[in-house]
Amino acid sequence: MAAQRSLNEKTALVTGGGSGIGRETVLKLADAGAEVVVFDRDEAGGRAVVKEVQANGGRAWLALGDVSNDADVKSAVAQALSETGALHVLFNNAGIFPDADGSPTQTPLDVWEQVIDVNLKGVFLGCRHGIPALLESGGGSIINTASFVAVVGAATSQIAYTASKGGVLSMTREIAVEYARQGIRANALCPGPVRTPLLEELLSEPEARARRMVHIPMGRLAEAEELADAVLYLASDDSSYVTGTTFMVDGGITSAYVTPE
Ligand code: NAD
Repeated sequence: MAAQRSLNEKTALVTGGGSGIGRETVLKLADAGAEVVVFDRDEAGGRAVVKEVQANGGRAWLALGDVSNDADVKSAVAQALSETGALHVLFNNAGIFPDADGSPTQTPLDVWEQVIDVNLKGVFLGCRHGIPALLESGGGSIINTASFVAVVGAATSQIAYTASKGGVLSMTREIAVEYARQGIRANALCPGPVRTPLLEELLSEPEARARRMVHIPMGRLAEAEELADAVLYLASDDSSYVTGTTFMVDGGITSAYVTPE
């Protein structure tokens, strides 16, 4: 991705920018010259990444709030406009995967509602308030984080999560079609399993790890940085003819039927 074009004079809003994929993306966007508004409900995580960008000589701001709250999202977009005068990149990435989300018969209703609220309504609200700002700024790029489970069923059920990500995928396609002639591109980023402390803990037992790795042709988890590289591509003009895609960054999972040992 070394040939990536500069994002100088671009403004990006990153939801869930305080941790994981969002955090790595904030750092890379800022390195490429973008000014970044980090939207997160976790103040400590959000502040830390903003400080890191500033320490590296970049410009970033924290918008503290909840992506499932209409007023919070509206105010984060307004903050991007008031700090920088524009919005060009909207990365709707915040998401949750609670333990209690399981099979359709066992997932508590309040857990279903919470997941749909954050993962699906949160992306909708980002688009609802972000699209007018992108149009005002002469167009831009929307990247919505879905997941590989939006494309293939997972054997270990997380029904609300899977349904929410399927919704993100189809919503993104429709937005891409609707705004294609107005200078807005929209793509759904579909990560495979990313190496996070949580997943590392789940896979600490060798048998559990081997069971999971069998489904990943590359035989390893993704690094959050590898997802951030894909977001940078989708955010920049390098992907100027790319819209409406189900952008897989999954180590080959969704292409595999059986993976050779
Ligand atoms: P993470 O938990 O490391 O980071 C998520 C961030 O979002 C956190 O900073 C959290 O505070 C913030 N957040 C959560 N709910 C919020 C809300 N309601 N309002 C504002 N901020 C909120 O997660 P991650 O692994 O970086 O995941 C990022 C995205 O990638 C999610 O949408 C997730 O579903 C998706 N994804 C992750 C994986 C994986 O293996 N980690 C795989 C596929 C898809």
